[in-house]
Amino acid sequence: MDNLRLAQLLFPDIDKTPADYEALYPPRELPDGARVTRFAPSPTGFLHLGGLFAAMVASRTAQASKGVFYLRIEDTDKKREVAGGIGGIIAGLAQFGIVPDEGRVSETEDKGDYGPYRQSERKQIYQSFAKHLVEEGLAYPCFCTEEDLSAMREAQENEPVKGYYGKWATCRNLTLEEIEAALAAGKPWTLRLRSQGDCEKKIIIDDFIRGKIEMPANVQDIVLLKQDGIPTYHFAHCVDDHLMHSTHIVRGDEWIASVPIHIELFKACGFKVPKYAHIAPIMKEERDESGNVCGKRKLSKRKDPEASVTYYAQAGYPAESVNEYLLTLANSNFEDWRRANPAAALEQFPFNLKKMSASGALFDLAKLNDVSKNVISRFSAEKVCADVLAWAKGYDSALYELLAADTDFATKMFAIDRGGKKPRKDLAKWEEVKDYYAYFYRPLYQNDFALPENISKEDAAAIVRAYKGVYSAADDKDAWFANIKDLCEPLGFTPNVKEYKQNPEAFKGHVGDVSGIIRLAATGRRNTPDLYAILALLGEEEVGRRFDEWIEKMN
Ligand code: GLU
Repeated sequence: MDNLRLAQLLFPDIDKTPADYEALYPPRELPDGARVTRFAPSPTGFLHLGGLFAAMVASRTAQASKGVFYLRIEDTDKKREVAGGIGGIIAGLAQFGIVPDEGRVSETEDKGDYGPYRQSERKQIYQSFAKHLVEEGLAYPCFCTEEDLSAMREAQENEPVKGYYGKWATCRNLTLEEIEAALAAGKPWTLRLRSQGDCEKKIIIDDFIRGKIEMPANVQDIVLLKQDGIPTYHFAHCVDDHLMHSTHIVRGDEWIASVPIHIELFKACGFKVPKYAHIAPIMKEERDESGNVCGKRKLSKRKDPEASVTYYAQAGYPAESVNEYLLTLANSNFEDWRRANPAAALEQFPFNLKKMSASGALFDLAKLNDVSKNVISRFSAEKVCADVLAWAKGYDSALYELLAADTDFATKMFAIDRGGKKPRKDLAKWEEVKDYYAYFYRPLYQNDFALPENISKEDAAAIVRAYKGVYSAADDKDAWFANIKDLCEPLGFTPNVKEYKQNPEAFKGHVGDVSGIIRLAATGRRNTPDLYAILALLGEEEVGRRFDEWIEKMN
């Protein structure tokens, strides 16, 4: 067979050779050991938590080795594409702080020297490599129709290995004359790999996460180019990962079964086979009707709202929290590192692919909330204010209006019990802000005037009446508390908790009960952050008004 002639017949317009592209995309100049990774989604616009997780793992892997992480859009399957899908993915990643070093940066733009980073714009490149495979005798045109292929599948019913290979690959041994005739007759064709695989042979891959995996070698003459000349995912990713110099293929483990195909393709093209790290899916505990754990399953796009990243955006989980949580899922030693380095930036964590679970990390919302409370407790008041405003703008306009009307006030509110050695850890997500801080805002403030069991209405009124007489916003914290203590005895309470415990019959209660009533009168809550700071921020006028309301209700 005259392969050069066949290549020219099939690809008359392709004049660039693989060598031209090799020259166009030279090896990257990176430090030793630097890893080049990528996230390569289809532009469906939907970013699944598993996708975000894979992107995060790939990006940390690159960053921890001073390498490069890039975004490539794999849009060879037009059926799956949605309008605006690329932008959706880029925005979804950015929301969680993942900004690739290079790759697609918008629906239409690229950043970096190894583009275009969208497969539909690389047709010529794939065809050049395809043409070369034909020249080498490693690819051939296949004129089988859908009917031919289904007839083959029927005939293969009892075959141990199914598919288009060996004696089943009817177009594998067409003569040049036969091919010429079919082309002249205008028959559509796909381009297939002429597999060199052997059914008896095994390949072993050493996966960073899964360890050594043994699999039968590929024998299938898989399709490289579809009838419209567009490559299949297998072929496109192999050409791209080679030219873009990916060193580590980090992706979901649903691709493991395809690795034998990919390895054969890399070898057929004369490329170095990259290293693999296949990420197990994020799992979720399954519970029975009584709430007992009865197994685990993959986090499901269909069943679990938390599988979509929009869930986190809507609830207002800070990106930092989600990232931090995903790192706890990714590397089991992350939490120890965090305890030892409470203030360190995530980038400083020595991320290690080998520490990932091969069986799938277990997703746990309660754990995410704990992680997020810690993360938020480390934020400055200014950052909380800015982040809550940004969130509320999209998801709670009433809250946005209230906060934006006086951001200085809001910042002071967020500053209460923040900073210092033991910041409060009450908030896990911004959707909790409205309720948590409601009493700072007249339109949100509610008081049901319900008393603790041990305090009578008369005492509740007397405490607030007496306190209103002595409260001054000018007092410092010590003077403020001294004032409250001084109220106790004349009203039958004791300023001394110990004394109360020794002799509870002798008093109506202790200073904690008295300040508790003041708290209830001013905020409607039994628990709040620092009451002194709350009263100071509410201001004498508003506090006075609430005290009056209280006294009136108690009478
Ligand atoms: N486009 C493939 C996907 O969306 C990427 C697989 C890979 O990373 O190699 O799953």
